[in-house]
Amino acid sequence: MKLISILGSTGSIGTQTLDVIRQHPDELQAAGLCAGSNIDLLEAQIREFHPAAAAVGDEEKAKELAIRVADTDTKILAGMAGMIEVVTLPQVQVVVTAIVGMIGIRPTMEAIRAGKDIALANKETLVTAGHLIIRMARDYGVRILPVDSEHSAIFQSLNGEDHGRIRRLLLTASGGPFRGRSRESLEHVGVAEALNHPNWKMGSKITIDSATMVNKGLEVIEAKWLFGVDLDDICIVVQPQSVIHSAVEFEDKAVIAQLGTPDMRLPIQYALFWPERRPLAGEALDLFALGSISFEKPDLETFKGPALAIKASKTGGTMPTVMNAANERAVAMFLAGKIRFLDIYEIIEECMAAHKVVHHPGLEDILAAEAATYRYIESRW
Ligand code: NDP
Repeated sequence: MKLISILGSTGSIGTQTLDVIRQHPDELQAAGLCAGSNIDLLEAQIREFHPAAAAVGDEEKAKELAIRVADTDTKILAGMAGMIEVVTLPQVQVVVTAIVGMIGIRPTMEAIRAGKDIALANKETLVTAGHLIIRMARDYGVRILPVDSEHSAIFQSLNGEDHGRIRRLLLTASGGPFRGRSRESLEHVGVAEALNHPNWKMGSKITIDSATMVNKGLEVIEAKWLFGVDLDDICIVVQPQSVIHSAVEFEDKAVIAQLGTPDMRLPIQYALFWPERRPLAGEALDLFALGSISFEKPDLETFKGPALAIKASKTGGTMPTVMNAANERAVAMFLAGKIRFLDIYEIIEECMAAHKVVHHPGLEDILAAEAATYRYIESRW
């Protein structure tokens, strides 16, 4: 039996992880759950999965939940300390980082320090603290197993291959809801349009990141850390049907890809059972029904997300943190109706231009750069 803790069990990745666990009750068990504030869903999850412990980010909500589930054996914890306790439970082997945003850094690091393997969905952690996380994983002998569909596809394509023989990574992108649109036509797009992703049903932050293509930029940095490939050797390919989840081109020009329906439960399950496979309920890819698969170059002038992320990563130090933090705050402001869609790029660009880089940052430098970015945004917008 593999015991699992889920950071962000009430979100899109978290609930799909529980669905995978539900399908394999003899092999997988949820030992710890964490959420931000959705205690209605967390209560239902506690009653179904009987975890040893559950944590709620919001301390008041944690108190309320403790009263509600007093009849169960689940220990209720609160705040960052509670999340850290849940991911470091002695019996846990794997932590699924399905929390959104940089808040995932501390619990991920503590889980690694406690020797837990990480099934990583929370890309913001690698984008901002990749140099620390990858080194820690090596030092503590834990595995970072990618959950992001593109990185899982690359991971699957690299099975049994020599990483030294990679020529480049072909990172596929759907292009998001605004693929093919001009910059002018994006001036006044609303929240509902931006949340209307053509292929994937995901949490709101990553869905907006897909619309700006900041998500693809974050994924380029994530791929750099996960697979040790130069940024210049990662090529973004728009593949609007989201069927090819990414590919690896090797020195001999062979291209190996992973294909499948757009269903996150596959990469989640692959990370949980790696190096083995298991059956998964749901539709199989029907190539005859699909008919054809098409490819396009991304419009990197209109959708500046990848260029901003690559620039931040090439600058290094605290710059990726500033890029990421500015994006997190700008997306929240856009979702709240406070700024326009294209302002997201402007906020990221301004924050990056105003930042004085700290090289080789430790965790405290990263968190300080995040806080400084939020203060800067509050003073300007
Ligand atoms: P969601 O917004 O759907 O879920 C986020 C989860 O994090 C929820 O459980 C939420 O709790 C929890 N959370 C948010 N803030 C806090 C906090 N302050 N303290 C504790 N918990 C918190 O996000 P997704 O599942 O879409 O994405 C999660 C991560 O996975 C992101 O990094 C994303 O980029 C990545 N990812 C997602 C994919 C997808 O298909 N969704 C695909 C690939 C990567 P609550 O519900 O209580 O707010």
